Amino acid sequence: MERFCIFCGKPPVDKNNEHLLPKWLLELTGSINRQGTFGPFINDGIVEIKKFPFKTFVLPACYQCNKDFGEQIEGKARQIMQDIIDKRPLDPKDLNLLLAWFDKIRIGSAFASMYHTQNVHNKAPHYYINTGAMRNDRLLLIYRTKQDFECLNVFGVGLSFIMHYPICIGTIVNNVGFINMSYSFMLHKALGLPFPLVNPEYASDREFLILKNPNSSFIYPFIDHGYNAKCSEVFQSIIPPSVRQDPLVNSYYGLSQYETIFPSKETLIGNILYASNKKILKYPSQKSLQWIPEELNCDQETFQNFIAMQTLLMQNSFIKKGLKLKENLPNSVYLCLKDCLEENTSILKILPLYKTFIRRKIFPE
Ligand SMILES: [Zn+2]
Repeated sequence: MERFCIFCGKPPVDKNNEHLLPKWLLELTGSINRQGTFGPFINDGIVEIKKFPFKTFVLPACYQCNKDFGEQIEGKARQIMQDIIDKRPLDPKDLNLLLAWFDKIRIGSAFASMYHTQNVHNKAPHYYINTGAMRNDRLLLIYRTKQDFECLNVFGVGLSFIMHYPICIGTIVNNVGFINMSYSFMLHKALGLPFPLVNPEYASDREFLILKNPNSSFIYPFIDHGYNAKCSEVFQSIIPPSVRQDPLVNSYYGLSQYETIFPSKETLIGNILYASNKKILKYPSQKSLQWIPEELNCDQETFQNFIAMQTLLMQNSFIKKGLKLKENLPNSVYLCLKDCLEENTSILKILPLYKTFIRRKIFPE
């Protein structure tokens, strides 16, 4: 596979290797020389779990791109992650930065999956970190278990889905689990904003008709991807650049009913929102403990199983929504979604927790 910079997508200038999982994250979760378990990757139909030292898990990047990202985001993410582990208060700026950092982990994971499967799909990425991050509605679910342990995992990667749709991954940092999901218009319907008939994530070549939205109040849950709500839910709406000039979309920003969503008519990057007692609220502007989730009570293995399962179920839910649009999709997209669903489901079935889940539809408490 041709090498490209994960930030700008061009052949790397003054080549530098970017640690997808940065050194500070390794230090926070154990010894930096330890082996990591990666996968499952599917290479030519064969399921592979790979083990190699975390610190060798690098992706190509330009020197300058790497440096810019380090200064703007990576350096600050470290303190925020430490604050999360220590249950300290966070403000909207912290959460905004954390969401940007997860954009990088998510998109970077898609590239890592391509490199480690020799990109069997022969698919050129349709966006890179600089052009794909901070452009779409995004959500972060934060789970925590009472039990303490050191742990670092990334779930929902290595499979075809993430290479085609780098929209959802799960991450565990010690006893905190994160599920990060981001795609265009994801929250628009629930927020009463106009949304397209066919989401461009599924078929970007289709002319998408923007629909007015009859909702005048927020709908909870924001997204119908069926997740365990015993977590804190942080949301942010971002107007995709492709429709920023659309008069219909544009006419909405300044309306008073959208004051909670957007800081001003000119700003297309929304406020940080969170859910509390099934209500959607603007996150307090001062440092606050509102982000702290109710705690689960499960051991490391169950927690890992749970975050992995939850991630794959949310990915599958996105796939199933796409499959319902069959009539409006190119056949190749429809077939690709079907393959992704089959692959994801085959992995779900080997998770011990999944057997209990499909029998009783319950998550761990
Ligand atoms: Zn670059």
